[in-house]
Amino acid sequence: MTAPLMPIPGPVDPHVMPRKATVRADGRIDLVGLNRPAIAGALEGIGLDPKTARMRSRQLWHWIYHRGATEFAAMANIAKEHRALFAAHFVVGRPEVVTAQVSLDGTRKWLLRFADGEEAECVFIPDATRGTLCVSSQVGCTLNCRFCHTGTMKLVRNLTPAEIVGQVMLARDALGEWPGATPVPIVRPVTNDAADDDDGDDVPWVPGAHNPGNNYTPEGRMLTNIVMMGMGEPLYNFDNVKTALQIVMDGDGLGLSKRRITLSTSGVVPMMARAGAEIGVNLAVSLHAVTKEIRDEIVPLNRKYGIEELLAACAAYPGANNARRITFEYVMLAGKNDSDEDARELVRLIRRYKLPAKVNLIPFNPWPGSFYECSSDERIRAFSDIVFKAGISCPVRTPRGRDILAACGQLKSASEKISRAELDKRAAEKEAAWVD
Ligand code: SAH
Ligand code: SF4
Repeated sequence: MTAPLMPIPGPVDPHVMPRKATVRADGRIDLVGLNRPAIAGALEGIGLDPKTARMRSRQLWHWIYHRGATEFAAMANIAKEHRALFAAHFVVGRPEVVTAQVSLDGTRKWLLRFADGEEAECVFIPDATRGTLCVSSQVGCTLNCRFCHTGTMKLVRNLTPAEIVGQVMLARDALGEWPGATPVPIVRPVTNDAADDDDGDDVPWVPGAHNPGNNYTPEGRMLTNIVMMGMGEPLYNFDNVKTALQIVMDGDGLGLSKRRITLSTSGVVPMMARAGAEIGVNLAVSLHAVTKEIRDEIVPLNRKYGIEELLAACAAYPGANNARRITFEYVMLAGKNDSDEDARELVRLIRRYKLPAKVNLIPFNPWPGSFYECSSDERIRAFSDIVFKAGISCPVRTPRGRDILAACGQLKSASEKISRAELDKRAAEKEAAWVD
């Protein structure tokens, strides 16, 4: 029987959050998350003339994002009196780490607390050829996909650019990946399920070459890729995600190429073209079902933007081509969306829209109170074979960090067991709160 449909809340942020700078309780402004003009503006705000402000903002940028400095005192090429002035008005902040866990497979998860006490999680996944940081875009998520733990959170707010960039900065801190820092040893599994993609980095990882003990080099960094696949729907927080990713991609700073960044959306169709044009990163789409009936049920947003509309938006996604394919994520739920016919329909849809696509099958990751079951290994293999034989790459994503609830869809910042009835009640309450 099909479960009753849940309401679809909108992208309104019910919490009034600072959009530009985070002013702390002590009145100082956090420079992390401000783009270059905003830093220059902040410097003018404390009395620097525009030319000096621009020059100092370039220096600050380099210290903050290239070198990872958090103390103005360490910024050697900035005049002493300016360092003191900056320290009086600004900070270079980091989110507070509430807990840091390491999985048996080397995956790391941080529970972070922000200035207002809200929390979000961030996960680092070392693989054979890369290290991927899974970044959150919201505290919670309004969208209530039925298989996702994050969707059960009651409180939702957008993360600020500072909080999004802060996750990357913190991971670089924790991994010891700034010039002069000592890299931490990382367990790297030999599996590399994500190797079959198009970013040109599918080379075997050689111990010592990528993880060179105390000899830091940018080429040897462990954090090589970013996926916006943590908590929240990134396209419901477009402006802040855009600002944050532009900072992350800036060549004189964190310097991650757009080819190494992937944004995953559950299908916010009206924002997809803008994401391609204005951010330009790789696109992943949480498809998860090929019929209206099932997708309506498991991804409620489908009732607003249906499969056809979604795939048409994918076909129009700027920058997608055979060298940079769109990833379709497909969670494998036993008896729900995993039949041979589903696989064949998936192939038909991809062909009908002529999509440069690859499919990522995600074994369902259970969480406390979840009520779906993961498809069997044989079913997943059979599904994958059908898609693969049609000429579409279809790897199965190896679950990572399940022992610390760090795998896809397991993130949630306060664990609690909730019944289906309670979940539906909360979804209705969330919707009520989101209606203007
Ligand atoms: N909100 C965005 C990005 C975050 S979720 C989105 O939905 O695309 C990252 C991926 O994990 C999505 O494809 C999501 O559907 C999937 N996911 C959510 N819950 C899951 C679970 N319990 N098991 C496996 N994958 C899950
Ligand atoms: Fe939100 Fe994505 Fe989870 Fe759906 S799968 S509830 S969109 S985080």
